[in-house]
Amino acid sequence: MGDHQADQWTEQFVLGVDLDGVVADFIGGLRPIAAEWLGVAADSLTADVSYGFAEWGLEDVGGYEGLHRHAVKHRGLFERLPAMPGAPAALRRLAAAGIRIRIITHRLYIPWFHREAVRQTVDWLEAHGIPYWDLCFMRDKAAVGADLYLEDNPANVAALRAAGHPTIVVRNSTNRSVPAPAATDWSGIEQMVMQEFVAWQSALGHR
Ligand SMILES: [Mg+2]
Repeated sequence: MGDHQADQWTEQFVLGVDLDGVVADFIGGLRPIAAEWLGVAADSLTADVSYGFAEWGLEDVGGYEGLHRHAVKHRGLFERLPAMPGAPAALRRLAAAGIRIRIITHRLYIPWFHREAVRQTVDWLEAHGIPYWDLCFMRDKAAVGADLYLEDNPANVAALRAAGHPTIVVRNSTNRSVPAPAATDWSGIEQMVMQEFVAWQSALGHR
């Protein structure tokens, strides 16, 4: 199958993969930069944050956006984030099994800074050997087609599911109240994706 992927795209199972909080450890990568920004020790900032990082006291230094801008522009955030444990290898196995990996990320939110955000992202994907054929920088993730989505942002999960898209929640401290199906690590994610893929293949065979 791997030799003919370009010809078989209409028959491929597409996995829509969010980056931050799913493949990249966004909280872990941002925390030391936030500590420096705030002038505090990194271990004084909880890793158990809610969506928006209210626990880190960023309002005192002008809010989250200033930290984000500094982290991407001056600390290369998107090329230095740690990968989630097991994510790159799991994605390589899923791709080798015949699944088409479609990266869907909302990283273009600093005006006139898109070249750098995209460059850091592509360099990071290559450095970690993450296989993909499609790279979508999109805010409205439901507008991007896929057979199954991996997502951690509660609002994105709700929007995807409301539009009828099967979505696995990648569980972290920002989305504890979001309903299952959910997985807490990449061995769980890989198992769930493979189950969906096998079911999709068997449905395809019975059409
Ligand atoms: Mg995310």
